[in-house]
Amino acid sequence: MKVVFHEDFYKVYALDPAAGAGRLEGIVDLIQNDSFYEIVEAIPAKKVDILRAHTDRHFLRVKDESLVFHTAMLAAGGAIQTADIAYTEKTASFGLIRPPGHHASRDSSWGFCYFNNIAVSLLFLVQKYRLRSIFLLDFDLHTGDGNINILETEEGVKVEILNPYSNNEEKYMQEIKNTLDSLSNIDVIIASAGFDNAQGDWGEVLSTESYNQIGKWMKEYSIKLCNGRRYALLEGGYNYSLLPRNFDRFCKGFG
Ligand SMILES: [Zn+2]
Repeated sequence: MKVVFHEDFYKVYALDPAAGAGRLEGIVDLIQNDSFYEIVEAIPAKKVDILRAHTDRHFLRVKDESLVFHTAMLAAGGAIQTADIAYTEKTASFGLIRPPGHHASRDSSWGFCYFNNIAVSLLFLVQKYRLRSIFLLDFDLHTGDGNINILETEEGVKVEILNPYSNNEEKYMQEIKNTLDSLSNIDVIIASAGFDNAQGDWGEVLSTESYNQIGKWMKEYSIKLCNGRRYALLEGGYNYSLLPRNFDRFCKGFG
């Protein structure tokens, strides 16, 4: 499975937990030693890519912080590559990128986010391949308000977003299954893949095997509904010793 990454994502570009030193190294160590994975180097987005999802004013605001801007452009570009791989190769792909994006709205951002990687990548696909209908599962601990603000008001495309709310693992998983069962006419299935709702991380809800099950379901339903087209982008996840294992178990179901 292709994983889009760049060594510049190791840099501490800000003083928040998503930008912390050592956050991605464990995952990269793991994927470099497992032939299941193939690393693709991320390429920065262009301004036109960002402006599909954001105002010019927001773009310029982020541009003012040079290290953040460089990393955020690389994350957004990596998200586009991840989406394009999934769509053209009819397969699974993962964007191992930071800063995260699901709290970034058109003209503002918060919660360790700057540009909305999910929205930038999806609106790229919508424009290039004229997609009509998308399912987005946001399994991060926190509700992706930026995803909702941008994508649920976008004209010409229907984006159904699920942020499961239960703090009971069984009910959480049932919410996902029920929603997947209700889908039809979907062009691509995507995930805001935050791992901060893990047992042992901030949310304390999901076990490692639940991440594997979520990955398996996304694979199964994408094969059924949209020729296997599916991708996921990293959002939160702050327990560095758990993150590689949860990432890996998700991907082994998903890929
Ligand atoms: Zn989060």
